[in-house]
Amino acid sequence: MERTVVLIKPDAVKKGIIGKIITRLENAGFTMIAAKFLRLPEDLLDDWYAHHKDKSFFPELKTFMTSTPVMAILWEGKDVIKKVREICGPTDSRKAPKGTIRGDYGRDVQENAIHASQDAHAANKEMDLIFLPHEIHEYNR
Ligand code: UDP
Ligand code: MG
Repeated sequence: MERTVVLIKPDAVKKGIIGKIITRLENAGFTMIAAKFLRLPEDLLDDWYAHHKDKSFFPELKTFMTSTPVMAILWEGKDVIKKVREICGPTDSRKAPKGTIRGDYGRDVQENAIHASQDAHAANKEMDLIFLPHEIHEYNR
């Protein structure tokens, strides 16, 4: 079964909407198979956002992403990668439709409430960066 990695980002943690975001993904039918509340190390973020490391906003992005712990969740389900990205909405919260997580809870292009893996390659890489094999639980929902 396909898996994707979600981070509930510091803006959403500060707003106290971790539960609301989890509920949306549970209601969409996906299964939580691992979860961890952690402050992301700087070197992990260098890997995670390697595609942005030369961008002018990268230092600010790291400051934002380390400003509180994040809730990292591994979700499993059919087409979970694409479907969770749809539920999140586009990167820029100001352009995200109402009814999407970013449209409802995000502020702008940086403080956009949630991360979700963009493809299977990213999902595998992100899963390995956060979770150890014994922290991932297989069960039927
Ligand atoms: N980001 C930012 N400024 C930008 C573009 C992106 O701070 O101009 C941040 C934002 O938090 C975004 C993350 O970098 O979610 C990763 O960017 P990406 O383009 O991969 O967007 P995503 O896959 O998260 O939609
Ligand atoms: Mg991305």
